[in-house]
Amino acid sequence: MNRLTDPLPKLLTNAKLCGAKTRAGSSCRCPALRGKSRCRRHGGLSIPVWGAANGAYRHGGMTNEAIELRREVSRLLKQIRNDAHV
Ligand SMILES: [Zn+2]
Repeated sequence: MNRLTDPLPKLLTNAKLCGAKTRAGSSCRCPALRGKSRCRRHGGLSIPVWGAANGAYRHGGMTNEAIELRREVSRLLKQIRNDAHV
């Protein structure tokens, strides 16, 4: 059996791919778990921990709230600049 040339089952070809970055630098080609964005090797089995409870949390500058606040400030500043030139 040639594993490279055998066509994959339709269920697999339609499956969303994991896409996690591998050590080789390419993206993982494994099918993601149902309802998840990653395969079981790349965190598909784990439940995400958000905010300060996450081990990678540092200062909160990259939380969704902080990013949204920066976007809003940027949008308001742009609006003020545009209004000043009219
Ligand atoms: Zn993966």
